[in-house]
Amino acid sequence: MQGLMMDYPLTLDRIVEHAGRLFPRNRIRSKLPDGGMHEYTYADLLCRSRRLAAALVGLGVEPGDRVGTFAWNHYQHLEMYFGIPGAGAVCHTLNIRLFPNQLAYIVNHAEDRVVFIDGSVLPLYEKVAGEVDCVEHYVLVNAARDIETRLPNVLHYEDLIDGVDDDFDWRSTDEQMAMGLCYTSGTTGDPKGALYSHRSMFLHTLGENQGTALGLTEADVVLAVVPQFHAMSWGLPFACTLAGAELIMPGPHLQPAPLAELIESYRVTVAAGVPSIWNGLYHELKTTPRDISCVRELVVGGSAMPRSLIEGYERDLGVNVLHAWGMTELSPLGTLSKLRREHQDLPAAEQWDVKARQGYPLGGVELRIVGEDGTVLPWDGETMGELQARGPWVIRSYFKRDPTPEHFTADGWFRTGDVATISPDGYMTITDRTKDLVKSGGEWISTVALESALMAHEQVLEAAVIAVPDEKWTERPLAVVVRTPEGDVSAEDLRTCLAVSFAKFEIPDQFVFVDELPKTSVGKFDKKVLRSCHAEGAL
Ligand code: AMP
Repeated sequence: MQGLMMDYPLTLDRIVEHAGRLFPRNRIRSKLPDGGMHEYTYADLLCRSRRLAAALVGLGVEPGDRVGTFAWNHYQHLEMYFGIPGAGAVCHTLNIRLFPNQLAYIVNHAEDRVVFIDGSVLPLYEKVAGEVDCVEHYVLVNAARDIETRLPNVLHYEDLIDGVDDDFDWRSTDEQMAMGLCYTSGTTGDPKGALYSHRSMFLHTLGENQGTALGLTEADVVLAVVPQFHAMSWGLPFACTLAGAELIMPGPHLQPAPLAELIESYRVTVAAGVPSIWNGLYHELKTTPRDISCVRELVVGGSAMPRSLIEGYERDLGVNVLHAWGMTELSPLGTLSKLRREHQDLPAAEQWDVKARQGYPLGGVELRIVGEDGTVLPWDGETMGELQARGPWVIRSYFKRDPTPEHFTADGWFRTGDVATISPDGYMTITDRTKDLVKSGGEWISTVALESALMAHEQVLEAAVIAVPDEKWTERPLAVVVRTPEGDVSAEDLRTCLAVSFAKFEIPDQFVFVDELPKTSVGKFDKKVLRSCHAEGAL
């Protein structure tokens, strides 16, 4: 027997309509490239998103067409998040930090017909424009009127939507329509696209706003540091709009000092970014103290958050850290490390241990770990296996590619490529990427655990561990370390420090000290570059 409830399409226009009606006066603030603040309301967002959708239809954009964005976090980019899908098209966010050849590949592969470009990053896009053959219109955002460009068919954003009626009928009529496209950073092979539907993103928004997840309300002030070009800014634009939470978009101002100032001046309650951002902010606040205790959740994901930094934030700054794990392929939120009832009375140090894990799945996501032979492994907190996921906002196939066993199992799970353990109470801990694991003398060594321990040393700013070939043991770990500006820690000191919590065979034989670690376009340590530097003898 079938249920008798309405078949109400879960489309994103409903989210912005809800905000426009319920929270018309709640604010969205954006820090502009010149440092000034732009402010407007959810009523403005609704009105301008409708106008943008109408203008895109006017340009000839058809349902299913891909429309690219090459921009920082700001209000017009937010309008694109609603206006493009609202026109029935697909909002394809382009990472401004990609290498030119990857960027050209992605625009051509997606066949973007229109691309929106921030004036401040126009030169980055122009480098690849000659290799792109699908784009019919470019729309410049926040660009000077007299800006010079070699791009063809250029419009200015405000001209495009100026004078357009805001009584547009949304073209997102079916919840299964594609609404967004993000390519993964592609550490191996060509980048692959995750194509979200209205339904998957709507459900992800509800999932993110569960009380056991971010539980946003209109009392929150949310600083979205994570870029809109990385995994849909972790869904925050949609979650904030649904909740009417005040949203703060930092534009290009992602350095520690302006972030600290934004948090303090606007009394931010939830801020989300990758560990390297929060590492920078922590060191900034040590030299230039500010009161950021207004933050109720410092959300961090994208790479493992070192336990020492969780401790630093909580002990020194009174800020609660919420460690999250996710992937572009999961829209992106998969787990959050919230304390459970049984942890509430634990001493702080034990609570930090719990928070340093990647956490338990959001309602809506299922996880399992699987051995090399395909056996499903126990949740005992010790057995490591490949992490697999399924759920309504988990990918089932990459854009324009057939699902292959490399990424999808025959029984309907997505293979994340992460290696993890899961404790009996459901907390998942990432130990590695399958490709980053070190196998030494038949034993696995977790590079994530080593990095976290090294970064706990007060004279270490950043550390990455890679596997290097070894005749006797097959592979051995090598640590690449950035000292703090005043630090002079030696390899011997670090070895002694690791010996407290690691077995002898797990301790790296070699430590290389460098000034800076190479990072990927989304701010993660680029181990591929480190491995090739080592292979070429440059490390
Ligand atoms: P991306 O799709 O670029 O967001 O990358 C997803 C990958 O980032 C995951 O498969 C993990 O390897 C890694 N990742 C994300 N969050 C965490 C975390 N909290 N701890 C460790 N690794 C993480």
